[in-house]
Amino acid sequence: MGRYSLVIHGGYGCVRNTQRMDQVKTLLQAGAQMLSTGASSLNVVEKMVKGMEDSGLFNAGKGSVPTAAGTFEMDAAIMDGTSGRGGCATLLTSVKNPISVARAILDSGSVVMMGAHGAQAVAQVKNLPNVDAKYFYPTPLTEPEHFGTVGCVAWDMHGHLAAGTSTGGTRNKPPGRIGDSPLLGSGTYANNSTLGISCTGKGEAFILANAAHMASSLMEYRELSIEKSLEQVLRRVESFEGTGGMIAINSEGGIAFEGTEIELLCAAAINQEGQIFFPTDKN
Ligand code: ASP
Repeated sequence: MGRYSLVIHGGYGCVRNTQRMDQVKTLLQAGAQMLSTGASSLNVVEKMVKGMEDSGLFNAGKGSVPTAAGTFEMDAAIMDGTSGRGGCATLLTSVKNPISVARAILDSGSVVMMGAHGAQAVAQVKNLPNVDAKYFYPTPLTEPEHFGTVGCVAWDMHGHLAAGTSTGGTRNKPPGRIGDSPLLGSGTYANNSTLGISCTGKGEAFILANAAHMASSLMEYRELSIEKSLEQVLRRVESFEGTGGMIAINSEGGIAFEGTEIELLCAAAINQEGQIFFPTDKN
């Protein structure tokens, strides 16, 4: 029987309340079920991120936080560790599932990154659901400043890694600001021979650190373990005054979590026995 691994995050600084953790657990169980029956890591990543976007419990899709102008501008990326190809969508204003726009861009096989009206047009051509601004408002959260970006990394039974990240960006960001989440090599990256990774935290610092690609390079060229690589990447992120966290899986299915304050990383993983574990369970 093949093996698989799956890990999800709901942001850095996001309060791990019961509602959010129940959502994460339900998704992990559904994702593990898909992987156990041979689903591709890419399909599972899209499905998991979509579930988080639709929940309204995280800063992505329905739960996206507004810009300083009160508008919504969402970013997402997905990357396939087998082909090395990815799709990135930025400044989306009215699609229901930014991750599916990123996936549509990946599947197009031509462009890699689309922004604003161009990315919205991809959604339209692909008949991806559109929503109006009211869709984003009703989220009944008591601690809105603790919203989290979402991400997922999966390793499937064929040994293929994929990673995806989706976000409404930072609260009160200036309109047009783009963070690390939709940038391959910054907030999102996957390479079957090193790792799949999704980051969360202060996007500017993750961009300047080239965080996600740096983690891959440290494994490839320095032959560091996944844990040591993430540790070093975090130091680099912190050197740009950033805080945040990362989830990752290596080429053998080993899961790693890292964070400035690990208890602030809202994340969970599932093993093949169906047991769910958290960043604070690992040492
Ligand atoms: N990294 C995201 C961004 O800068 C925000 C977050 O992860 O909370 O857009």
